[in-house]
Amino acid sequence: MTSPARTLGRGEFKNEPIKDFSKSENRKAMEEALKKVSGELAREYPILIGGEKFFTKEKTQSTNPSHPDRVVGIFQKGTVEMANQAVEAAHKEFASWQWVPADERAECCFNAAKILRKRRFEMNAWLCYETGKTWPEADADTAELIDFCEFYGREMLRLAGPQELIPSAGEQNYLKYIPLGVGIVIPPWNFAAAIMGGMTMAAIVTGNTVVVKPSSDSPTVAAFFMEIMREAGVPNGVVNFFTGPGATAGEALVAHPKTRFIAFTGSKEAGLRIGELSAKKQPGQIWIKRTVLEMGGKDAIIVDDEADLDSAAEGVAQSAFGFQGQKCSACSRAIVAEKVYDKFIEKLLPRVKALKVGPSENPENYMGPVINKSAMNTILDYIEAGKKEGRLLAGGAKASGDGYFIEPTVIADIKPGAKIAQEEIFGPVLAIMPAKDFDDALNIANGTEYGLTGAVYTKNKKKLARASREFHVGNLYLNRKCTGAKVGVHPFGGFNMSGTDSKAGGQDYLLLFLQAKVVAEKLNAK
Ligand code: NAD
Repeated sequence: MTSPARTLGRGEFKNEPIKDFSKSENRKAMEEALKKVSGELAREYPILIGGEKFFTKEKTQSTNPSHPDRVVGIFQKGTVEMANQAVEAAHKEFASWQWVPADERAECCFNAAKILRKRRFEMNAWLCYETGKTWPEADADTAELIDFCEFYGREMLRLAGPQELIPSAGEQNYLKYIPLGVGIVIPPWNFAAAIMGGMTMAAIVTGNTVVVKPSSDSPTVAAFFMEIMREAGVPNGVVNFFTGPGATAGEALVAHPKTRFIAFTGSKEAGLRIGELSAKKQPGQIWIKRTVLEMGGKDAIIVDDEADLDSAAEGVAQSAFGFQGQKCSACSRAIVAEKVYDKFIEKLLPRVKALKVGPSENPENYMGPVINKSAMNTILDYIEAGKKEGRLLAGGAKASGDGYFIEPTVIADIKPGAKIAQEEIFGPVLAIMPAKDFDDALNIANGTEYGLTGAVYTKNKKKLARASREFHVGNLYLNRKCTGAKVGVHPFGGFNMSGTDSKAGGQDYLLLFLQAKVVAEKLNAK
């Protein structure tokens, strides 16, 4: 329990409730926000370095994946020189921000949460237009960001308090957590609010300064949050906003000798590249860069022969097709006991076939588009490979409309070594894999290079206990879906090629942005 004094009188942390869109006031608020934001599309956003605005000749655009001809925002194509300038500005600002008392920094988190609550539907609308999130998915993303602000603010106050040490006679000793320096925040587009804002708030509430380089698919959501942070009292230069190509300018941010740490969430390939680059000492660099690298998944749900098949079918359908399967936690493999294989499929298929696909601003659609054309083509290629590797039961093609819509796709009889059983697809494609028994199911589940989330449906307590020990994932769920981790309740992060298991939204997370200094003073020294 956190004492009230340590929460600036704000009380215990509680998850932000999700808006219920069956209520007319929430529907109306969302419709109004969509209308308001549609009048703010295609605006141009500068790079922000030390509070100064920078423009480049070359621009990039982010577009609406439901209607690709509609521009959401226009951005600068930052150069390597600008990237270097951004790190220098963050470094300069670190000289003062590191000494700002923890409660003042935490207050910025709480202010940001308050502003986000006020502008919640607006943020939802930006997410809907820029990343193709349906209303409930967009609202869950915004609510998670509010949670991160509230949770990390409280966590910083806890870590700023006295830390326990074993007393030593004749000495007075203390341990204090101090910040690291300049961090580079590199988020993915799929939780364009929560992950981008969560990594940023964690980095700055601990006293670091950052350069945020958003994904080129979701820079407007990040730009909107920059505005909120300024309003919340975060000084210029503490958070710098940089848009530009990952391969050149993005890598320059990572490689800069004054960069002290990198907080990355994204694909395995980019994570490994950033890990490699940051491990190389640059001329003038005087520290080992710290990296927080959260990467992909190939998450599985085991459906045992002693499972409630209705709940299992519901859990698999939601985990596989919510946000078009574009969650790192999404179920992309259903590993089903042979005894109930056909029955499970019988229960799953009507649920999948009932899912409506279309523009995400229309609340009748359960699934919106995938993020961009290249993702759509990659996913369709996986579907073609899957059709050869198994038996197509649902979907299997692009859905109608101008947007990047793909039908929810189910392919059965997939073998453990198959391409679609091993590689992260990051789209609405579910492989169904038969398992001889529970041992076989666990072996198949653990048989990829990833280890992010997983779930098991069974009524057998012994099997649940075995899964808790042997199913090697960072977030394991028993008799429930494998998506929807809540801040503070389910700290989130994966094993193996899913990343460094940083457990975002947990009590260990802020320590990744801090270092401990111990001061020992001899008492009665002459
Ligand atoms: P991505 O790897 O393509 O991009 C992520 C970010 O890295 C973007 O901002 C991109 O611009 C940047 N980037 C790419 N290459 C870079 C480089 N060489 N140098 C510097 N920056 C670079 O991933 P994405 O498509 O945005 O996101 C989807 C991926 O994220 C999936 O693999 C998903 O599983 C993963 N993900 C993981 C978690 C988790 O908690 N483990 C959460 C969400 C998403």
